[in-house]
Amino acid sequence: MTASVVADEPSATVQWATRIYLGLLIAGFALIPAYLIAYVYVFQNPALFFENHVFHEFAIAAATLEGLFVSYVAWRCYQSSGEPLLRWLTLGFLAFVLIYALHGAFTGMAHHNIWLFLLYGPASRLAMSVLLLVALLTWHQPPEPVHLRREPGRWLKWIVLFVLIDVAVGVLAYSPIAGELAVRLSLEGGALVFSVVNLAVMLARRIRSPLMKIFGISVTSFALSSLAFILARPWNHLWWLAHAIFAAGFFLLSYGVVQAFRTTRSFATIYSQEELMARIAEEMERTENALQELKRTNLKLEHLAATDPLTGAANRRQFIGMVEAEIGRAKRGGAPFSLLALDLDHFKAINDSYGHQVGDEILRGFVQRCLEAIRPYDGVARVGGEEFMVLLPQVVLSVGQSIGERIREAIANGVFGGQSGNAVALTVSIGVSQFGRDGDTIDEILRAADERLYRAKHLGRNRVIGA
Ligand code: GH3
Ligand code: MG
Ligand code: MG
Repeated sequence: MTASVVADEPSATVQWATRIYLGLLIAGFALIPAYLIAYVYVFQNPALFFENHVFHEFAIAAATLEGLFVSYVAWRCYQSSGEPLLRWLTLGFLAFVLIYALHGAFTGMAHHNIWLFLLYGPASRLAMSVLLLVALLTWHQPPEPVHLRREPGRWLKWIVLFVLIDVAVGVLAYSPIAGELAVRLSLEGGALVFSVVNLAVMLARRIRSPLMKIFGISVTSFALSSLAFILARPWNHLWWLAHAIFAAGFFLLSYGVVQAFRTTRSFATIYSQEELMARIAEEMERTENALQELKRTNLKLEHLAATDPLTGAANRRQFIGMVEAEIGRAKRGGAPFSLLALDLDHFKAINDSYGHQVGDEILRGFVQRCLEAIRPYDGVARVGGEEFMVLLPQVVLSVGQSIGERIREAIANGVFGGQSGNAVALTVSIGVSQFGRDGDTIDEILRAADERLYRAKHLGRNRVIGA
């Protein structure tokens, strides 16, 4: 398995080549408008114009509505993630909408004051390209605090500025310098320069996240559309192509914004497929480790909940469970089983003479001896301070009695407390009962064993009573 994976892993050269190819693909795609511009610029018939006011108005109206919608989606993203880039993106879209709409609105003025019609286009692109550059410069800045995000003043002052730009462009259109090539060139050229700088900064900072790739391709489209506008004349084919190139960039950028909205509401935390795969693998490993840890902890907890911490024997709760299971088995036709109730003799006196710690050591030693005297599937439980029970599956009373005897003998012949340098003699009294013979509920058989234990004590201790 591992060998085949290693054999399948392509060489570094292939990895490198595919990466370079991807980069070239993106660049080649982003530059498609350039090929179109070159083609139309070289081959267009200078006599061909398409002056259709209604079509132009309709197209600009559609762009305005779309721009408003995208501004809103970008605004919602910003509200949710607080990413500064999204604030500036929202403002960029809003600037574009509020200025460009007048380019459409004044289509009818083309023959009265051509500048009133024409200048809003480059002005809107210039405003947007400046704001997109600011957006890029905020890349990876920390999210803005929630209370600032909605503050109306922060948005209103920009809207006022965009309206003032509208007024200024109007004034400019009626001024004597409106017709100067320098005016249009500086607006459109400015948009071109800001978009090119934007792209250069992106490349220099090696910003590669998937949505930023889309951002970069869009900005390239905006730069190329400004170039096409500079080379075009109103209503000629290159002029319309310039509109289309800008629209393509706008579509793509709005695609990025909507993708952000539908995922993390942020441009920075969208990952490439490669990154996602790596993250998923990492997360899966973490989950798997956590699961294993949880299983280990659960086993430990189960063990802790079922055993007596001093002796390691089962506790009362666990013992009751074991007896209940055995009753179930016996009732389903299995062989009967027996119980031993054990109580150390005069243990208080041992504690008093040797101390509580030696007493503890003796309790541990007692459980050890019991375990040695019984079969592996018999269970020892500590049900009180120095009181124990043994469950003997598939054992009738007489056999239980002899097992009890074996235990009693082993204890009476043993020496306890050796670890602490003592040699303590110990005896135990034992009562035996059998399921079925002495009752068929857990209470009845426990009571029977206890009664016999009590009798064993009464008769002088260090003995086994089975009936
Ligand atoms: P009997 O033969 O009648 O059973 O006499 P006993 O002294 O064993 O009985 P009693 O019930 O009077 O005393 C039980 C003693 O067990 C009292 C207590 O000090 C001791 N004991 C109970 N739990 C622990 C324990 O966890 N550690 C130690 N060292 N002693 C314990
Ligand atoms: Mg006792
Ligand atoms: Mg006792």
